[in-house]
Amino acid sequence: MTNPIVTEQFIQITYLVASVLFILSLKWMSSPSTATRGVRAGEIGMALAIGGTLLYHGIIDYRWVAIALVVGTMVGVPLGLVHMTAVPQRTALSHAFGAFSVTLVGTAEFYLRTPTVSPFMMSVLAMEVILGSLTFTGSLMAAGKLQEVLPQRPITFKGQNIVNLSILAIAVGVAIYLVFHPERSSLFPLIILMPLIFGVMMIVPIGGADMPTVISLLNSYAGLSAAAMGFALDSKLLIIAGALDGSSGFILSVIMSKAMNRSFTNVLFGAFGQVQSSAAAQQEARSVKTATAEEAAGILGAANSVVIVPGYGMAVAQAQHKVRELYEALNKRGVTVKFGIHPVAGRMPGHMNVLLAEADIPYDKLLDMEAINPEFPETDVVLIIGANDVTNPAARHDQSSPIYGMPILDVDKARTVMVIKRGMSPGFAGIDNELYYLDKTLMLFGDAREFVGDIVRELGGPGGHS
Ligand code: NAP
Repeated sequence: MTNPIVTEQFIQITYLVASVLFILSLKWMSSPSTATRGVRAGEIGMALAIGGTLLYHGIIDYRWVAIALVVGTMVGVPLGLVHMTAVPQRTALSHAFGAFSVTLVGTAEFYLRTPTVSPFMMSVLAMEVILGSLTFTGSLMAAGKLQEVLPQRPITFKGQNIVNLSILAIAVGVAIYLVFHPERSSLFPLIILMPLIFGVMMIVPIGGADMPTVISLLNSYAGLSAAAMGFALDSKLLIIAGALDGSSGFILSVIMSKAMNRSFTNVLFGAFGQVQSSAAAQQEARSVKTATAEEAAGILGAANSVVIVPGYGMAVAQAQHKVRELYEALNKRGVTVKFGIHPVAGRMPGHMNVLLAEADIPYDKLLDMEAINPEFPETDVVLIIGANDVTNPAARHDQSSPIYGMPILDVDKARTVMVIKRGMSPGFAGIDNELYYLDKTLMLFGDAREFVGDIVRELGGPGGHS
């Protein structure tokens, strides 16, 4: 394909197909039954986008591109293999890399064009570089907090919001000045440096519990900066992909904030999680009722209706396959089993759906919070497997609780509640759960996978430790 016009047309067609695949990918990923297809579509779209870009006639030497591809693959493959529970911080790292490259491209474009940069181009480059830089450091900080290499607790000081907004305001002010005076290139580093500092300062006051929401918001910023880069490079594919990324990240942040009954401003400026350590320390030595796997199996086997509520602990223990065995063993005995899925159970949206789908639990047995909540008063037994915050009744009535107002699964309305967890440790919000002290609650202490396996064995299924 040596004719440049034919090559250009071929590249444009490749980009068009890639854009359609990205849109279909998002659509398919919104349901568990089509999610795998959605991931494949995204992968093929990205391969086409990279392939099309490699044909670009502006590339005269492929050596640097080859080095970048090899290094990128060497970093990307191990990143893709991380454990499911580490996916939020892995995603944050991807945003950081993407935002870093966007900033570098924007910087290169500016210095290639200065002193004659049109006001439109300067606005686009400034937006690209500001969003890219703050997303870079913000995402690194978020990944560090989630990986617990940085302190999870929010760090606040007086006048913090004013200081942070002033830093951002300086960057925006300089950007506006540059739009009218693009020849003052010595000011350009300021619109990189200030947002880099702002990215760090923005994350410092946000607690670990809000990090997944923030990461999704940073995803949105990374998308917007990529869309701005699309204008700078005149790439329709980048504009489309960036806009999709920007809008889907924003929608996801809104959904997550709603599920936790938090406003955006509250997530970004509210220093949620501040009470974590003190609330955990206040745990009273109240007594709880415990039961063995044999007793739990007896209660479950005698029930008519059981709702299983999975949470982060099921993910950590990788108990989903044992949970399927339990589901089958109870079904065999004629017990009706459903799953109650809270929108923020686990550590990322859809976490429980992904794990239970992997274990081949039928999708129609997974009920969202709104669908399952009215059923709890009619439910004989609720079996909570490694969930905690999403079942805490304090969210409904205790105004001093950090999770007050968060919609929860009304498990305490069922006749009997059984909770599998290893001890009395709190969940992500760092607070005690009053559910454990109710008369109707039985604590089943142990690792989720082992305990569920033991119950299955008692019920006569394959079960046992693996
Ligand atoms: P959680 O409140 O974090 O509680 C998980 C429980 O699992 C812990 O209390 C822990 O108790 C237990 N556990 C850990 N490892 C276990 C194992 N191997 N076997 C058995 N139990 C184990 O979890 P959740 O109820 O799923 O709530 C999710 C939390 O994350 C919420 O606060 C939510 O707001 C937050 N969050 C989620 C998202 C999201 O997108 N999903 C986003 C932002 C924030 P032991 O240590 O005693 O075993």
